[in-house]
Amino acid sequence: MKATQLYAPTLRESPAEAELISHKLMYRAGLIRKTAGGLYSYLPLGWRTIKKIMQIIREEMDTKGGQEIMMPIVQPAELWQESGRWAVYGDEMMRLKDRHGREFALGPTHEEMITSLVRDEVKSYKQLPLMLYQMQNKYRDEIRPRFGLMRSREFIMKDLYSFDRDVDGMNISYEKMYDAYSRIFTRCGLKFRAVEADNGAIGGGHSHEFTVLAPSGESSIAYCESCDYAASDEKAELKVIHAEREELRPIEKVSTPDCHTIDAVKNFLNVPIEKTIKAVAFMDDDERLIVAFVRGDHEVNEIKVMNAVDGANHLYMADEKLIAAANSCAGFMSPIGLNDKAIVVVDQTVMEMYNAVAGANEVDAHFINVTPRRDFNAEKITVADIRMIQVGDPCPHCGKPLSMTRGIEVGQVFTLGKKYSEALHATFLDEDGKEKTFEMGCYGIGVGRTMAAAIEQRNDKDGIIWTRAIAPFEVVVVPVNAKDANQLAYAEKIYEELKAAGVDVLLDDRKERAGVKFKDCDLIGYPLRVTISPKTLESGSVEIKIRHNGEMLNFDRSECVSKVIDLLKTL
Ligand code: ATP
Ligand code: MG
Repeated sequence: MKATQLYAPTLRESPAEAELISHKLMYRAGLIRKTAGGLYSYLPLGWRTIKKIMQIIREEMDTKGGQEIMMPIVQPAELWQESGRWAVYGDEMMRLKDRHGREFALGPTHEEMITSLVRDEVKSYKQLPLMLYQMQNKYRDEIRPRFGLMRSREFIMKDLYSFDRDVDGMNISYEKMYDAYSRIFTRCGLKFRAVEADNGAIGGGHSHEFTVLAPSGESSIAYCESCDYAASDEKAELKVIHAEREELRPIEKVSTPDCHTIDAVKNFLNVPIEKTIKAVAFMDDDERLIVAFVRGDHEVNEIKVMNAVDGANHLYMADEKLIAAANSCAGFMSPIGLNDKAIVVVDQTVMEMYNAVAGANEVDAHFINVTPRRDFNAEKITVADIRMIQVGDPCPHCGKPLSMTRGIEVGQVFTLGKKYSEALHATFLDEDGKEKTFEMGCYGIGVGRTMAAAIEQRNDKDGIIWTRAIAPFEVVVVPVNAKDANQLAYAEKIYEELKAAGVDVLLDDRKERAGVKFKDCDLIGYPLRVTISPKTLESGSVEIKIRHNGEMLNFDRSECVSKVIDLLKTL
């Protein structure tokens, strides 16, 4: 391809709304253009990268036995009513009516549609396992579309669905996809972790999020440098921290005037914060009072609290009246003396404390020398892991201290079990002649988000730094002065040779100043630049610039093609 025929409008400025570097650079390098909030066009360079990412995904899906199909984007409401998700999906779903008033949605995901396709077609265990996938636009009317392709309203997703005879089969499919995802993101040159994830609204069994490590990411993850453990901060399992054993002292009520916060109490009583017990009071949709207790220096993890209490789906700050009805008062709550109106959830680490400070359920009073095992009513409390992870907490797999980082979720794998196959009555005849329900899994990758994450991870002040695998072009050949016919002809010759050798190469034959062309090369981020200058014509020496480290190498003209090919292998 020649730059004079390429539509690649580069810009000096990025749009004011662009906060993330990937968004700014995609815009400036002429990869994308915005149509409206969360709706983008991909220009030729952007689309070339998208196609390369899709090709990597396709190869890895096919290797694992996936078969590519294409389903309609427009989905009838009836399918979603069958699964019950028409009512619960909410405003994120883009809905429309046809001329007869029938209701449809633009697919945000395709579990219902694939399940209905398979239930009508696949009747025998002999047709299983089955893995079908597609790559197409998905639609989600995000509350805050932002960060360019990272969170848009129309985006390209690869979604694969697996159908198996039994749970073992489903787990094998899951492992295959897990492996394929690891290969895909490695091939794309990304630093990522497979993070144990919460299954969220999609339901089913286990799940991992493939998260690209980047400070700008929206997810917060805990990970271990010593082993491959990683989990979202909401999900990270924590071990009990055992306090050093002490001689037990008798519990005693003391006056703590105006000490409503842990800080105030610890200062007033002059005790370390690790010796205090903190209360956080919530209520749920049924106005039940739920009081969570953690060590003073720990934070409550609401998701874990919800998981510990049957039927709690949302938590809100508790009402003062509810707290009073449970025989307590805000700022001085304690498990000792709360009545049956409160559901008490205590963090496992609190149960290992000795001679601690806790509220006394009355204004301006605390208990000292509280030893939970002795002083809490074991029958009335739930003990669970309910705190947020903190830097330095031990890894649940190997015990080494965990680190925290931020990341971008580029893909997610789920086992769904029978959630959709049961709701949509999707069954097959098994070998024993019995009718059984499919065990399913679903596996998504955001293609545009993967491109954005790659830029987020690899860029510098001059622009994007692509890895070879997903660069719009692998190499750019630049004659510094394309107005010089000899130079242009020389460059064209090298360009033709590289093309013939199978290199994905661009010839920058624009009659622009060299400085302008070099700036564009760096901004767009081609992994290698081959420069043809008057010196090349004189001495036969060709300059090659490696984008990611800025290194300039000089080779003899005769070696140019083989050197480019060798260098590309390392990029
Ligand atoms: P998020 O939590 O970021 O909203 P999600 O968990 O709802 O994403 P999935 O349903 O797991 O997303 O979709 C599979 C993949 O599709 C995600 O891992 C992500 O890469 C991509 N994706 C989801 N929503 C968007 C969006 N609004 N814009 C771009 N890509 C998206
Ligand atoms: Mg997800």
